[in-house]
Amino acid sequence: MPQSREQLEANEHQTLAPYAQRSADSRGRAFPEPPHEWRTDYQRDRDRITHSRAFRRLEYKTQVFLNGTGDHLRTRLTHTIEVAAVSRNIARALGLNEDLAEAIALAHDLGHSPFGHKGEYALNDLMKEHGGFEHNRQSLRIVEKLEQKYPHHPGLNLTWETREGLVKHFNPADHPSKRDGFDAKSNSLEAQVANLADEITYYSHDLDDGLDSNLLDEEDLKTHVQIWRDTDAEVRTEHGALDTETRHYAIIRRLINSQVHDVVETSGRLIAEAGVQSADDVRLHDGDLIRYSDTRRTANLELREYLYENLYYNPVVHKPNLRAIKLLEALFGHYLEHPEDIGSQSRARIETDGLHRAICDYLSGMTDRYVALEYERLGL
Ligand code: MG
Repeated sequence: MPQSREQLEANEHQTLAPYAQRSADSRGRAFPEPPHEWRTDYQRDRDRITHSRAFRRLEYKTQVFLNGTGDHLRTRLTHTIEVAAVSRNIARALGLNEDLAEAIALAHDLGHSPFGHKGEYALNDLMKEHGGFEHNRQSLRIVEKLEQKYPHHPGLNLTWETREGLVKHFNPADHPSKRDGFDAKSNSLEAQVANLADEITYYSHDLDDGLDSNLLDEEDLKTHVQIWRDTDAEVRTEHGALDTETRHYAIIRRLINSQVHDVVETSGRLIAEAGVQSADDVRLHDGDLIRYSDTRRTANLELREYLYENLYYNPVVHKPNLRAIKLLEALFGHYLEHPEDIGSQSRARIETDGLHRAICDYLSGMTDRYVALEYERLGL
């Protein structure tokens, strides 16, 4: 006998903190649907996201290293899975709704174009007279509109709370606050958790991949990044001499753990101090409550700057991405002249959304390798 949804909802009432977002209190879906027999609304959202096309394409999209350059380097998909795992851990420790945090984490990068942020900037440039391109906004557009697999509504028809979690990092100018009530001062704590888990995850996996691919030099890292120096010293004290690879793994593991620990401790204190008693109290609260301690934030800033200088703008990472941008620009130009060459779903939106937006949706949905294939196929 399966556990009913009502039972799961009752469990949430008993076990979650008062400031958690309970699935029974959801503001629901844009197109009302009968609830599921044994899944809560957020568990259902999570399943819809993992069964979407955009999710499957994350496997072939660049995170930092151009997709296909190394078989065990992170891709957008493995990054996303790591973010979901860290989100669940933080959410559980704070008594928040793990399912909601997980759903938001799994959807957070759906809107990324091929070739990572370089691709995003290129598309934004190509779209500058037509509303621009930004990956968070595109994630929302995908789940609300572009995924087409249900007979009675466009998109995935996710709950309001999962979509709320994707409304972030917007400039005030393009914040869609005028619709759907996405105008609260803050997002749910679950959305804040997914947001910070993203950062924790990429700090650690970029260090891991950077060292693994020899783009980062450990001696230099030790000289410039205190958090690495300190964690390395802790690992040496605990384990004694280790071979380099095992020691790196131990440092990365310890780093993730200490980041999560810091966020859980700090956020727990901030939540108590703010005195929020419900998920809606959180939305009325000015400023994020899921945060690093000040000391940790300063330490992370040093790490972040180091990664920018030595990894993200390292010519080995940067150059292939720059070449990839040329492909994007060439394809965009081609589709402007030959709208008949874009996919049928995007083509159907030319009339309502304009040719530029339809091309942008089509191109941004492509994987890295599909861009290259298409460029070749069209003989550009
Ligand atoms: Mg991310």
